[in-house]
Amino acid sequence: MTRYVGKGVYGAVAIGRISMFRKNDAAVQRVRVEDTKEEISRFEAAKSAASQQLCEIYEKALKEVGETNAAIFEIHQMMLEDEDYNESVCNIIENQQVNAEYAVAVTADNFSEMFSAMDDAYMQARAADVRDISNRVIANLSGTGFAAQNSDDRMIICADDLAPSETVSLDKDKVLAFVTAHGSSNSHTAILARNMNIPAVIGVGDDFLSAVNEGNEAIVDGFTGEIFISPDEETRARLLKKQRDDLNKKRLLQELKGKENITLDGTRIKIYTNIGSIDNIGAVLLNDADGVGLFRSEFLYLENSDYPTEEQQFSAYKRVLESMAGKKVIIRTLDIGADKQVDYFGLKKEANPALGYRAIRICLTRPDLFTTQLRALFRASVFGNLGIMFPMITSVSEVQQALQMCEQVKNELKADSIEYSDKIEIGIMIETPAAAMISDKLAPMVDFFSVGTNDLTQYTLACDRQNPEIEQFCDAHHEAVLRFIEMSAQNAHKNGAWIGICGELAADTTLTETFLRMGIDELSVSPSFVLPLRDAVRKIDLSK
Ligand code: PEP
Ligand code: MG
Repeated sequence: MTRYVGKGVYGAVAIGRISMFRKNDAAVQRVRVEDTKEEISRFEAAKSAASQQLCEIYEKALKEVGETNAAIFEIHQMMLEDEDYNESVCNIIENQQVNAEYAVAVTADNFSEMFSAMDDAYMQARAADVRDISNRVIANLSGTGFAAQNSDDRMIICADDLAPSETVSLDKDKVLAFVTAHGSSNSHTAILARNMNIPAVIGVGDDFLSAVNEGNEAIVDGFTGEIFISPDEETRARLLKKQRDDLNKKRLLQELKGKENITLDGTRIKIYTNIGSIDNIGAVLLNDADGVGLFRSEFLYLENSDYPTEEQQFSAYKRVLESMAGKKVIIRTLDIGADKQVDYFGLKKEANPALGYRAIRICLTRPDLFTTQLRALFRASVFGNLGIMFPMITSVSEVQQALQMCEQVKNELKADSIEYSDKIEIGIMIETPAAAMISDKLAPMVDFFSVGTNDLTQYTLACDRQNPEIEQFCDAHHEAVLRFIEMSAQNAHKNGAWIGICGELAADTTLTETFLRMGIDELSVSPSFVLPLRDAVRKIDLSK
């Protein structure tokens, strides 16, 4: 048995086999081959496996997200059969006597460059598609990435690190746990693991990756951050018991369903949830949340290989609102950039992406994108109780501009006799020191604040949330962070606005009493934290 330790980011125990997730973009090697016919047959086999996979994904998408959204996988299948694409791969193999992986990678580069250079926006977007299908073929050729997801068993996924876009593309039904060699606990990958209730350990180090192999038996303890490879009988028995106890505890919490979030002295608080996809709605309802406090709409963009259309967004927002049946659903407008990168946005590489072109900055400078999302949101508003909030706000003028664009969208809808609700609450995220400092000026402009403690901590303490080296300095309990939250709460209430917290700190039960004493009205957490938080709230007595 070998034991490795990293940082646990979701407490649960998983027992199973390891599947290595090697990145497809890990430079494909150019290898000289003697038998080019054999190489072409390898390509044909990998391509037909890709076609079969795409067919299955299409069927699944058809059931889960409808025909319009599923259509892209049909297009991918057609692209795989494209004569020019196939000819290019076979020519490169034959003429250069090279391996199929290399021929596919070169073809993907050439074709995507050609598409990007076209004038037509639709054709430009095909650049990402050709890369996507080529990555799938390469993965099948080398038995990595997507291919690792083809097993029927649920596996412990091990990777160097996982980007948010890679995490969302994993088939959740097949993931028992995540283990990554790198990464920080405030990264979106860690947040996604929490959202999906998947035991996850990050930052285990490079030694781990070189020591483990595909199919190794392992136990992941997300509470302690330990991973045991080929566990001995004693460890297996101990962790099986821990797993049983944890499940029992979670079962006991189920008794709190239907009960109020009320302190011993009668103070009520709303407990909402954070989600990144409509697939999480089941967990929201199962955990009896009062509403959705943060729908990270950018995941709709991360899951897609092209800008989601107004119709696609409308149908996603409508489904969330309908499923929540009148309970509050706060949808955050696009927060792309920094660690959440999407190829088809064509964002430039930046020296300091967290301080760069992201979130509201993209929306205000690309009004076409923002307007499409706002139209979808306003149209969907008639199907439930919608709140809209803007991320990364630093100034009064940004809020003014965002509100003006809302007015413009409403006027356009009115002119076209398209209905929208007149009860939509509009809020902003308090996740920069600037927003907290001028919260007295921002509060009169909006209905609510939602504190994003992940970014507020990063910007207040000058600590990159993605950098595991400085995690010990990235202390969300720092007095400066807490003072900013308190200041924002006072300014919200003075101006008739309400305030919630949707960063990861909202789930930290050692701070629940502090937040309640500050007057925080709502806490929004991953679905599985709703009941533990309700339990904590019901044990607090603010009269003491
Ligand atoms: C935050 O910054 O706290 C937040 C909720 O937003 P995200 O984690 O998506 O940046
Ligand atoms: Mg944030």
